[in-house]
Amino acid sequence: MKPLILIVEDEVSLVTLLRYNLERAGFAVASAGDGEEALLLAAERTPDLVLLDWMLPRLSGIEVCRQLRRRAETRTTPIIMLTARGEEGDRIRGLNVGADDYVTKPFSPTELIARVNAVLRRTKPAAGADTLACADLSMDLAGHRVRRGDRSIHLGPTEYRLLRYFLSNQRRVFSREQLLNAVWGTDVHVEPRTVDVHIRRLRKAINAEGEIDLIRTVRAAGYALESKPGS
Ligand code: CA
Repeated sequence: MKPLILIVEDEVSLVTLLRYNLERAGFAVASAGDGEEALLLAAERTPDLVLLDWMLPRLSGIEVCRQLRRRAETRTTPIIMLTARGEEGDRIRGLNVGADDYVTKPFSPTELIARVNAVLRRTKPAAGADTLACADLSMDLAGHRVRRGDRSIHLGPTEYRLLRYFLSNQRRVFSREQLLNAVWGTDVHVEPRTVDVHIRRLRKAINAEGEIDLIRTVRAAGYALESKPGS
């Protein structure tokens, strides 16, 4: 599958130019004209890289960057900021909120594509890292498939994100609040109790009868995923 680049830019002629050049370079392209649309598109399908303009209607580039970083799916998605010449302060703020690189306007499409490729090379996980595993439980990130032993497991979107977060941070104990922030995002108001509901569903889905429960409940602290719970 072609890597998906999400262009977030309100200048239509620049979007057209970028789209044309990126598609010619072998990328799939999605585009959003403002920050809110960008967040919706990124939630629909996680892009492999985001080109993010700074001056946007509705939500600023900084805010979009911050919100993408808060969500589990886009926490590590590379972001290249597109800034106007001389906006030094924006660049620094952008790198502070988690952008990976920046390109100053005006730029040539060739230069931008070189940067895109460089950032993708730098941030792409090593071969094989697109599968997360704990004991006999495994998650294929590209195919969105979860298995335990020979059994294939069907998870709802929240349980999937929850499990993905646990698999990426094994043996660490997370409070309900930490899980809410990481999996639901801080802009969503959800009761901490909701976490328990989804943990229960996740447990039911991944643990068949007789199998070891991989999720450890830590009294008064939260939950952890471990290959040998209790050890
Ligand atoms: Ca703009």
